[in-house]
Amino acid sequence: MSAPIQIPEKQTVALVRTLGGPVELVDDYPVPKPGHNEVLAKVLYTGVCQSDLHTKSGTASGADNNPITAIKLPHIGGHEGIGRLIALGPGLPQTDPNISIGTLVGIRFASRICRRCTFCLAGTEQYCENATNHLHHEDGAFQEYVSLDAGYLTILPRDADPVVMGPVLCAGVTAYKMEHVQRSGVLEKELGGWEG
Ligand SMILES: [Zn+2]
Ligand SMILES: [Zn+2]
Repeated sequence: MSAPIQIPEKQTVALVRTLGGPVELVDDYPVPKPGHNEVLAKVLYTGVCQSDLHTKSGTASGADNNPITAIKLPHIGGHEGIGRLIALGPGLPQTDPNISIGTLVGIRFASRICRRCTFCLAGTEQYCENATNHLHHEDGAFQEYVSLDAGYLTILPRDADPVVMGPVLCAGVTAYKMEHVQRSGVLEKELGGWEG
């Protein structure tokens, strides 16, 4: 039987205290404790998205070109991350035996959905009216440990290369969407630009 994984109380994170301020490497930020229906992942790798740079600089804007001002502070970005599960929330092994310690997961843009709105109930949860993400609402992959919604995980193959898979979680999806839309004949200007 392998030794239990030691999880520290504090961790190093890339912290932005005020939008437009510096990125500080802080080594006493609390490690999240996974609650019910949550998991804790050790971050192995993360890419940096241009949206991270806009958000930290206070220059992020939405599809309507209005500034995005509702941003959690202090801010920890990162939504092109790969992590390995090291702890499961209370009762989770019994309720979801498919999730186990060692599972490789993606730390992507979308963090949580409500599962109650019209879009969630229709199976189109990407449009959830109450969704949260790892850019504006929750601490992302620019930390050593991240808690994630166990019911909304991106589970990756065990042999996936984190360096290759990380950027696919945002930049790859953005490029795919662009290619897809171009092929279908929709002009970029009709969509008001791309967030990615
Ligand atoms: Zn919803
Ligand atoms: Zn992005």
